[in-house]
Amino acid sequence: MERNWLKGAKSAYDVVVIGSGLAGMTAANLLAKLGHSVLLAEHHYNMGGLATWFKRKGGHILDISLHGFPSGMVKTFRKYWTQDISDSVVRLKGVRFDNPQFQFTTTFDKTDFTNILLERFGIVKEVIDEFFDFARNMNFYDELKMTTGELFEKFFPGRKDVWRFLMEPITYANGSTLDDPALSYGIVFSNFMDKGVFTYRGGTDQLIKKMKKELLKNGVDIRTHCLVEKIHVEGNNVKGVKINGQDIACRSVLSNSNILSTIHKLVGDEKFSPAFIKEVKKVRLNNSSCQVYIGVKKGEKIDNVGDLLFTSVADEYNTEKILAKQVTSRTFSFYYPEIRPGLDRYSIVSSTNARYEDWANLSDEQYEIEKENLIQTTLDALEKYVPDIREKADYFEAATPKTFKRYTLAPEGTSFGTKFEGLKISRDLPKQIGGLFHTGSVGIIMSGWLGAANYGVIVANEVDKFIGSMKDKPEQMVTASV
Ligand SMILES: Cc1cc2nc3c(=O)[nH]c(=O)nc-3n(C[C@H](O)[C@H](O)[C@H](O)COP(=O)(O)OP(=O)(O)OC[C@H]3O[C@@H](n4cnc5c(N)ncnc54)[C@H](O)[C@@H]3O)c2cc1C
Repeated sequence: MERNWLKGAKSAYDVVVIGSGLAGMTAANLLAKLGHSVLLAEHHYNMGGLATWFKRKGGHILDISLHGFPSGMVKTFRKYWTQDISDSVVRLKGVRFDNPQFQFTTTFDKTDFTNILLERFGIVKEVIDEFFDFARNMNFYDELKMTTGELFEKFFPGRKDVWRFLMEPITYANGSTLDDPALSYGIVFSNFMDKGVFTYRGGTDQLIKKMKKELLKNGVDIRTHCLVEKIHVEGNNVKGVKINGQDIACRSVLSNSNILSTIHKLVGDEKFSPAFIKEVKKVRLNNSSCQVYIGVKKGEKIDNVGDLLFTSVADEYNTEKILAKQVTSRTFSFYYPEIRPGLDRYSIVSSTNARYEDWANLSDEQYEIEKENLIQTTLDALEKYVPDIREKADYFEAATPKTFKRYTLAPEGTSFGTKFEGLKISRDLPKQIGGLFHTGSVGIIMSGWLGAANYGVIVANEVDKFIGSMKDKPEQMVTASV
């Protein structure tokens, strides 16, 4: 008999959170701490969304998105999770670039970037300072029409080498390109420049384990293997959800599922105003990714070649080339034993930005061939830095946009949600349907570990207010009958 993953669940909750990405989990935790009854439904067997890991035979543990985040994560972990989680954040020592235009290692902070721009690229100090100030002072509410390309042209006209230095890491961090709003670049770039790039000592498995413990402690009803199939709306208000075929009532739904899936699939276009749907249709998805996971044999060691390595063989920064199936740029994340103290293991993950359509329509046979090709060409590229990697490693696996889609249910396997315009749609959701909220990767700023977790906090506070306001309107309180 099939297991009932909702066994023992209540018939009604204050809030149902759909999805256990960093945004969903952070929101669920805060809402539970604020005293609400919370059901957290995750379709996958594992929690974390893209912030996850997997284990393979031979003692390999491989992280998906633990490459680096800004220092702001320390505060977010401390304020909305625990001091213990916050204390495990450590700084990456060396971020390395290797491409036809330049090769060096940086600590990836304002001081070092200033020196590099000054000494290697010959930019005048006043211009550098002005650029940093300009980027730092951009804020979320600015109505800035400038694109990142225009921003670079303004400060570093024609200097494609400088553009690459400033842009390439951010493209990997959030999928943004020269055509996206400068505002979103400025905020994310300044976040990183503040103190450098950080990671989580203990690995994603330890982090999510600790988060799960905290969620349970605060009373969140966590249900994995639970696919939310529908959000029930009556009149203009949320009434409940359908999970694994079972209806559950709630006052509010906070969806951490992709914003477009939430609207088109979980609710249905007919429940929104036509004008809103017209705007929704303009929202562009962000790109997806490919990854190659390389597990080093037990007992083998690799030399330190940097923590994060941005490599490219392309002449200059080029969005098309970064996304192309013919890979020219790769980011390697090296996980040395310090990341999981006590295990004495090494692993390497290569990430590339990718397009869903390049992988979605291949035959099964061709798909396997292309995946193997991706692994082999990645190893070829890696041999420049770890010459004997083929002998030292004994586990190789590739993930494509199809893989990301399967595990997160994100349309086209998008790695970073939507482009900037998705943010407004996400923010406007509760104005369309009472009690319906969204959190998670939208609009570049609200993306990555920090953006997603912080957006979870913002929206959880709005859900809290909404539920508080309902207490004055008993006629809108839900009953168990959906
Ligand atoms: C290859 C790669 C590398 C990255 N590297 C970094 C990095 O180094 N640093 C960084 O800061 N960020 C990185 N990111 C981005 C970062 O991981 C994400 O921005 C962030 O984790 C997204 O969190 P989220 O809460 O928005 O959503 P997600 O992680 O997408 O979680 C959404 C969750 O909702 C669940 N779900 C969806 N629909 C349903 C449904 N109907 N029912 C039940 N469950 C559902 C999904 O299964 C998933 O668990 C990377 C991303 C990728 C793809």
